Amino acid sequence: MPGEAILLSTPNFQGNEKKYVNEAVETEWVSTAGAFIGRFEERMADRLSVRQACACQSGTAGLHLCLRHFGVSAGDLVLVPTLTFIATVNAVLYQSAEPVFFDCDEHMCICVDQVEEYLERDCRLEGGRTVETASGKTVKAMIPVHVFGDFCDMDRLMDLAERFHLIVIEDATESLGGVFNQGRYAGRPTGTVGHAGVLSFNGNKIITTGGGGMVVSNDEAAVSHIRYLSQQAKDDGMYFVHEEWGYNYRMTNLQAALGLAQLEELDGFLEIKRRNYARYRERLADCGCGELLPFGSGEKGNHWFYSFALREADGERRDRLLQYLNSRQIQARPIWKLNHMQTPFRKYRAMDCGNALQFYDRVVNIPCGTNLTEEQIDRVCEALLNFEVQDRPGI
Ligand SMILES: *Cc1c(COP(=O)(O)O)cnc(C)c1O
Repeated sequence: MPGEAILLSTPNFQGNEKKYVNEAVETEWVSTAGAFIGRFEERMADRLSVRQACACQSGTAGLHLCLRHFGVSAGDLVLVPTLTFIATVNAVLYQSAEPVFFDCDEHMCICVDQVEEYLERDCRLEGGRTVETASGKTVKAMIPVHVFGDFCDMDRLMDLAERFHLIVIEDATESLGGVFNQGRYAGRPTGTVGHAGVLSFNGNKIITTGGGGMVVSNDEAAVSHIRYLSQQAKDDGMYFVHEEWGYNYRMTNLQAALGLAQLEELDGFLEIKRRNYARYRERLADCGCGELLPFGSGEKGNHWFYSFALREADGERRDRLLQYLNSRQIQARPIWKLNHMQTPFRKYRAMDCGNALQFYDRVVNIPCGTNLTEEQIDRVCEALLNFEVQDRPGI
């Protein structure tokens, strides 16, 4: 009999969350000014060993601010993976730029071979910029995404970016706490290698501020300008002078109070994520119908989202598995519908996305929150181990 619901990922508030939020309320500093914002930014910059951080309303806002700052504008092309949450792509559209969609590699992150082939075969260098030959449009930037907390191959992506004069916005919204485990960036936290990195503190992320995000970079001028843009580009607080137009994207002190407390818990969460993942792996080692996918990031990743993959790519079977789990009060869901197939994006160019399509038909994400108990993990494993027997096609 199904027990209580096991949710995919829920917030975990066992530290100073209430204390700091109360402090913000009691001092009446709840809006976009207040001491917690700066403290949260400083603490995060310290943690990631970057020079600057700008707290904002969401990860999506952070991505948008980066694209705007780095001059991505109407008609420019931005290289993105098709396998990502839609926010990555929406931010490109906010600048009236156009996405070009790429497949993923075996870790579900952007396929670097395909990016390289596209840049070498379909583009040419022209006076310090890269132009897509067929359209004549400028390829301005790329947004690699560390999907589910696993790592993109930043060594090769940064080499390509240098050769082709591309801006790299690292979408590290899912990978906070991860530290590159190989190559020349070994030891560097995710989000700190590109020209800027973006974090998210949405409710299902490894730490949450309810909603929120942050831009991090060693480029101090970039982050200063991004902070300025996030506050309506206000030059003078007395006379409200604005030399540019901006956005209302600044994080509030209430959110930052929550964020500061959550950041104090991050190391504990990383440990729990790793331990829970190991328990799943061990229990599912002999599973007949599929496997818990390994992370290329190994011990250095944040193990944010766990992916259980069926042995074969069969979308109907994947749907039966989802139904089977959800009917047992185990919240599970497929990977996001691929972006190049989404209605608003179908008109943009997409490479062959065969790997992403296979993952889409194989993978379901299973409960991965830091509140999970061992009993809950075991219940999920038992259900997965029994799926083979229960799943008779046609019934
Ligand atoms: C969560 C997330 C974002 C940003 O989301 P917000 O809800 O705006 O903070 C961006 N990209 C990816 C891949 C994400 O998972």
